[in-house]
Amino acid sequence: MTLDPSSALVLFSGGQDSTTCLAWALSRYQRVETIGFSYGQRHAVEMEVREPVRRAIAKLSDDWRQRLGPDRVVSLDVLGSVSQSALTADLPMGTRPDGLPATFVPGRNLVFLTFATIVAYQRGLKHVVAGVCETDFSGYPDCRDDTVKALQVAINLGMEARLVLETPLMWIDKADTWRLADQLGGRTLVDLIVEETHTCYLGDRTHRHDWGLGCGTCDACRLRANGWSRYQARLPP
Ligand code: ZN
Repeated sequence: MTLDPSSALVLFSGGQDSTTCLAWALSRYQRVETIGFSYGQRHAVEMEVREPVRRAIAKLSDDWRQRLGPDRVVSLDVLGSVSQSALTADLPMGTRPDGLPATFVPGRNLVFLTFATIVAYQRGLKHVVAGVCETDFSGYPDCRDDTVKALQVAINLGMEARLVLETPLMWIDKADTWRLADQLGGRTLVDLIVEETHTCYLGDRTHRHDWGLGCGTCDACRLRANGWSRYQARLPP
């Protein structure tokens, strides 16, 4: 299988991180496609904002519009059916007795990345871009750099390929993720992420904050809000 070195497949959920990754990929590669997964999430809001975010980001530059290729949504309902998590069932948020967040879906990112590489392989897309991060992450072990690197090795051995798993957010915190968006697309991209993307675990789109819509209290909202305030604090007046 020939993989086009200037192409990428972005794992795109419609959240802040994956939207920043999409902008990052559009600024680097000539051909960029997106993939999303439905897996029985409690809240489908992220899935609903994906297409509006894609449309809005394509309007930010002629280059980006030309580079942005098709999107696909892969159904992984089986993941929701075999796992019990606060993201896929009506269970309380918080921390599990073993210290992991109640929102942890075991194997989720391993499955997502594996399916994404299957699609990338078929489409001839060399880079697979994911917004995972171990700097100020939610505590998911499959967001860690070592996990992703180990999976890349296994996938390339198993597929006899040279796919590259790219994780541009791995070593930066949430404030720097906002700064990266600013560098890539200026204030217009930052505003787009604030207005259009969705991060809240509870699917709340009714409470408005400087950093976007969300409940303001779940882990995802608190990470996003905290990063925003630190990003704002270092913005020039
Ligand atoms: Zn929230």
